[in-house]
Amino acid sequence: MPLALPDIEDEVLLARYPFLPQGREHMRQVLESNGITVEDLIEAPWLEDVRTRGRLRLLESVMHKDGADIATTVDLSTEVGRMTEVLSFLHAMLVVCASFNERLLARWIEGEATRADQLFGMDSGNFELLARSYFSDIREQRNGRGDDSVFWIPMADFIELCPRISGTYWHLANRPVRGGWVCMSPGAGENSRQRTARLLKERIRENLSESCVERMDKMSEEFAALFADPVERITGLLSERVEAEMPMTAAVREDWPPCFESAISELNQGVNVNHVGRVFLAAFSRAIGMSQEQACSFFDNAPDYSADTTSYQVNQIYERGYTPHGCAALKTGARCPVQPGDDRLCDQEWMTHPLKYLRVKQRSRYREGSRPEEEPEVESDEPKAANS
Ligand code: SF4
Repeated sequence: MPLALPDIEDEVLLARYPFLPQGREHMRQVLESNGITVEDLIEAPWLEDVRTRGRLRLLESVMHKDGADIATTVDLSTEVGRMTEVLSFLHAMLVVCASFNERLLARWIEGEATRADQLFGMDSGNFELLARSYFSDIREQRNGRGDDSVFWIPMADFIELCPRISGTYWHLANRPVRGGWVCMSPGAGENSRQRTARLLKERIRENLSESCVERMDKMSEEFAALFADPVERITGLLSERVEAEMPMTAAVREDWPPCFESAISELNQGVNVNHVGRVFLAAFSRAIGMSQEQACSFFDNAPDYSADTTSYQVNQIYERGYTPHGCAALKTGARCPVQPGDDRLCDQEWMTHPLKYLRVKQRSRYREGSRPEEEPEVESDEPKAANS
């Protein structure tokens, strides 16, 4: 983040992008100048439009796989419109924080960050100012024809953010570098501004996450209870959505080992899963007979999702017939989510591979009386860990 944030006086800009770091002070001013308290935001009849817009915004962020709808129906040229946009964002954020639900938080942040990525990529007039609010610096190399500008950003910002995005474009070795500046040349069908906005999305996500965690730390249970109704509504909808998005297959879901379940659910919540986790997810899906399409669908909500890259990489794993990682490799790769005592099967000394876990579960379901703690007779086909 920049050491000093650039001043933003334009209230339309602060209303369009209420998540900007400069927006916090502006939000406070909007509340003060209109004599609005947080209690008013929850129940004052004249603020019903704000709550409705906040609910809609929250719903879009959480339910839309591609982030919230970027178009707003609110007229930002009027003072009422700007107030509605700013306070509806605040209302949505308070509902998310009051839920103390990590899955809801991750999905809301992902939705808002994706929306920001799309809007920033189109905002040629304000782009430099917006980028300076999140990067330590930025340079624009004009090529004489409007959208042909190429942006350069400091290497420190690039190095910090690029590991969170998949694809060869984001490898430093593939980017032109000059005097400590990295060139964000056009690529993957996007112009330089859109590519830079993609990188900005990572900072927006980080910044929003920090703000929410800070708010949650300070939030008392009494205050959170004021948002009980909207929290209940949105968490109910989220559970239905997650259930509907989770593909089911021949292998019954209750049989899945915790490492497989957690990789799917983290990706589903928009949490970044590391390379070991992603390879394991695809290889395990293949091993239990899922189709490539089903395996690809697990990655739909990944923060750096690209349909082409996902289907190429999943296809490689299916074609080369990788066997999934064993427990030791998953533990080393920080992809085993259980602690001693969490899961009786995982606690067994012979539990060395997630496929063993699946087989034991299947066997105990089909053979009445068999104890799940018994080691399965699968030593002869002990799978070899994937080498990628
Ligand atoms: S112990 Fe093995 S099977 Fe169980 S969650 Fe960890 S890696 Fe998966």
